[in-house]
Amino acid sequence: TTQTAQTDAQVRADDRAHVFHSWSAQAKIDPLPVAGGEGSSFWDYEGNTYLDFSSQLVNLNLGHQHPDLVAAVQQQAGRLATIQPSMANDVRGELARLIAEVAPDGFEKVFFTNGGAEANEYAVRMARQFTGRRKVLSMYRSYHGSTATAISLTGDPRRWANDIGDNGTVRFFGPYLYRSAFHSTTIEEESQRALEHLEQTILLEGPGTIAAIIIETVVGTNGVLVPPPGYLDGVRGLCDRHGIVYIADEVMVGFGRIGEWFAIDAFDAKPDLITFAKGVNSGYVPLGGVVISDRIAKHFDDAPFPGGLTYSGHPLACAPGVATFEVFRRDGILERVRDLGSRVVEPALRAMAEKHPSVGEVRGRGLFWAIELVRDRETREPLVPFNAAGADAAPMGAFAAAAKEGGVWPFLHFNRTHIAPPLVISEEDLVRGLGVIDEALDVADGYTV
Ligand code: PLP
Repeated sequence: TTQTAQTDAQVRADDRAHVFHSWSAQAKIDPLPVAGGEGSSFWDYEGNTYLDFSSQLVNLNLGHQHPDLVAAVQQQAGRLATIQPSMANDVRGELARLIAEVAPDGFEKVFFTNGGAEANEYAVRMARQFTGRRKVLSMYRSYHGSTATAISLTGDPRRWANDIGDNGTVRFFGPYLYRSAFHSTTIEEESQRALEHLEQTILLEGPGTIAAIIIETVVGTNGVLVPPPGYLDGVRGLCDRHGIVYIADEVMVGFGRIGEWFAIDAFDAKPDLITFAKGVNSGYVPLGGVVISDRIAKHFDDAPFPGGLTYSGHPLACAPGVATFEVFRRDGILERVRDLGSRVVEPALRAMAEKHPSVGEVRGRGLFWAIELVRDRETREPLVPFNAAGADAAPMGAFAAAAKEGGVWPFLHFNRTHIAPPLVISEEDLVRGLGVIDEALDVADGYTV
């Protein structure tokens, strides 16, 4: 109708004139005006509805407009909309307790932030204070956020323009069997060699200079790289040997994405600090934080922590966090994610890998999977070059256009699409969306050799 067309035009006009967007050349983008969302879908002003296979930025774990989360925000707004962090607050304390209850034994304290980058900033600051050392090791093929320290930890091209060279960060290669940096042919070999490489890196950097190693428990945006057996345990061993703090970045994979409260539970990993954000309250109000092991928390019993935020533990953000725990438990979200992942997603993706020459590898767990697209299965040449943009990225653009045409909003990064729908997606929608991805892969097949 004219009414919706005008609304669409107005939203576009205000956006283009006044909103400065993340990660973009401002004149070269055309953001989709979104009129609304419900559950696993959202829609524009022109009558197009998309099934969100990306959960926005892999944060919308309980979907749009979840009634319990909306009610929690509304009720909290009616009770006490804000309170500063140095006072005690009921929902803040309740959420911290709920998080500590699902964290491993020996983690009792939570420092709240406004998002994931800040969570990593503060985890690093705690590690530096605790050890009296400065350097932090992180992986190539990682994302840890966009603030100064977090972007410097990041091991993908988003760091390049932000590198100032003296943030005390050093990158190493993590395990990635499909594109092994170590010429491994088995998963055991990859795990072992990646650990040897990390050990060498530590020795050559100077163990006594390293405050922390930060690792995404399952590497998210850079590939849904599931750690091989023994790897994270080996990292723990190296950290113990050299007095290094192990930080698990669970910003993307915590709170149910792979069917666990924290992904470390699936791999028996034992970090010293755990960072979270996104799924803790599905992003209804910005929230992140650091879960702190007793050993590190104890250090700050007497030494004052030199850091803080006006909005640390904001009650409007904590209230939907508390509601998230209620919904997860009442609706069996973790069980459902494991079930849908292994019974529906995995077999569907394995079948796509059989059928489509453009699929090099599928991998993942729970409702978190990657389809890695290649031009040539033999050589594993990626469908588009690393960090491709513009015309170079055309094959991925064509794949994405086909998915959108079919009503699915895909997650794209370089030569991969990820399957990361809201954890509340109905089985019917999940199957339908996977069917759309399957058809869109025909388009990708057209670019293979
Ligand atoms: N860490 C990981 C693993 C992430 O995936 C992200 C965001 O995508 C971040 C940190 C940064 O979180 P935020 O964008 O909330 O600062």
